[in-house]
Amino acid sequence: MENIELLFVFLFGLCIGSFLNVVIYRLPKQKSIISPPSSCPACGTRIKPWHNIPIIGWLILKGRCASCGAKISVRYPIIELLTGIIAVIVYYKTGLNIFFIINFAVFSTLLALSMIDFDYKAVPDSLNLLALTLAFFNSTDILNNFTNALILMGGMSLIRYYVSYIIKREAMGEGDIIVAGTMGALLGVKLALIAIFIGSALAILPSIYNRIKNNDFELPFIPFLALGTFIVWIFNGYFELLWSNIYG
Ligand SMILES: [Zn+2]
Repeated sequence: MENIELLFVFLFGLCIGSFLNVVIYRLPKQKSIISPPSSCPACGTRIKPWHNIPIIGWLILKGRCASCGAKISVRYPIIELLTGIIAVIVYYKTGLNIFFIINFAVFSTLLALSMIDFDYKAVPDSLNLLALTLAFFNSTDILNNFTNALILMGGMSLIRYYVSYIIKREAMGEGDIIVAGTMGALLGVKLALIAIFIGSALAILPSIYNRIKNNDFELPFIPFLALGTFIVWIFNGYFELLWSNIYG
């Protein structure tokens, strides 16, 4: 019984991942995410329903468009698989209830924001605010979640002022501040701070690489914040204990 539930959750995650691919590709281009149906960006041929099956469609096509042979990025099946894995992990944490839907929706949205941030170094407010608003309802203590979001957003703004003053240019994007709010609502103040710390630590090496290799000083930050958030959310008990061991 439980295995069937798990399989259902994974398949559900794959399908949402397929939808996320559409969101990631179309939303920044201001295109509708509902219609028209997906088509090959190179030749415009409609993608057949069985080629649209998550992961399997890409494997059947061997990563190429059926009519023109243009390459289809391996990113599509990877995002589908990632979303399936996220669904399973959230299911293990929450069980199958309303909080599964909300938390899974928040982390799926964070994944989409991460990919868009990678591509454009900016994210649409619509999607960012959606994640924040959903995060208010990730547990029964909505007022507390809301308060924690405000504290994190305020704190992040403060850091932004300091850092921008020191480096004499605009540090971080406004998008990062909204993501900080989502982190506060999801994790509470203490764990959100740990998640920001982990996210920043994860960003150090890619940031140096990006600077040397691409001579680019602007690393998208949301993917790292999102990853830090997911890690801390999964192991929240462990990080609570760590905090209380250090600060009592
Ligand atoms: Zn094509």
